[in-house]
Amino acid sequence: MFVWFLFGICVGSFLNVIIYRFDTSIFFGKSICPKCKSKIRWYDLIPILSFFVLGGKCRSCKAKISLRYPFVELLCGLLAMICVYKFFFTLKAFVVFLFLCCLVAIFFVDIDKMIIPDSLILFLIFLAVIFTFIFDDVDIISRCIGFFSVSSFMLALNFFVKESFGFGDIKLIALCGYILGFQNILLTFFISLITASLFSIFLIITKKKSLKDYIPFGPHICFGVALSFFCGIDIINWYLFL
Ligand SMILES: [Zn+2]
Repeated sequence: MFVWFLFGICVGSFLNVIIYRFDTSIFFGKSICPKCKSKIRWYDLIPILSFFVLGGKCRSCKAKISLRYPFVELLCGLLAMICVYKFFFTLKAFVVFLFLCCLVAIFFVDIDKMIIPDSLILFLIFLAVIFTFIFDDVDIISRCIGFFSVSSFMLALNFFVKESFGFGDIKLIALCGYILGFQNILLTFFISLITASLFSIFLIITKKKSLKDYIPFGPHICFGVALSFFCGIDIINWYLFL
C-alpha cells in the first residue's frame, strides 16, 4: 500500500509538470524556477519532501513555491491508495487512477487558464475505450445516454444563454457521462451545479468577482465526477431514503 502511495506522489509530481507546462513545447526540458530561471537540482525535486526541506522557497532566489505542488503530489498519493483499496492490485485500479489523475490535471489547468486542453480530452477518449472493456457493470446503453444527456442539455442551454458553458466543459461532461453511465452523470451534474453556485456566491460576497464574471466550471465537474464515481450509489440511495 505504501509503495502505491509513493507511486502516486511521483505521478503527482509529473502531473505538476503537465499542469504547469501543457501549452509549452519544452515539456521534457530541465525544471527551472519560474522567477529566477535557475535550474532546479535533482535533490530539490523530490516530491513533497523537497518543498518542506526548502521551506517553500526557491534555493537561489527565495521566491515562494506554490503550496499547490506538494498538494497535488499528496492528493495523487492518496488517490492511488483509494484505488488500490477499492479495486485491489488490478488493472481496474490502475485505469481508475489514471482517470482521476486526468481529472486533477483538468481541475488545475482550468483554474489557471480557463481552458480544458484537447490533449487531456484525447486522453479521456482513450480511457473511455478501456473503461468499456474492463468495467462491464455499466452497460453500453447507459454509457451512450450518459454521453448525450447532460452534454446536449448544456449545448441547448448555450443556445439560449450565450456562453453559459464552455465547449471544453461540454466535451468533458460528455466523455465522463460515457465513462460513468447515465445515473452517475446526472448526479455529477447536480453536484457540480451545487458546488459551482456555492462557490460563486462565496466569490461575490467576498467581492472577488462580480455577477458578470465567468468562473471555470471544469473543476466542479471533475469534483462531481470523482464523488459520484466512488459514492454515487450511496448518495442516490441516501437521497431516495430521505
Ligand atoms: Zn528562483
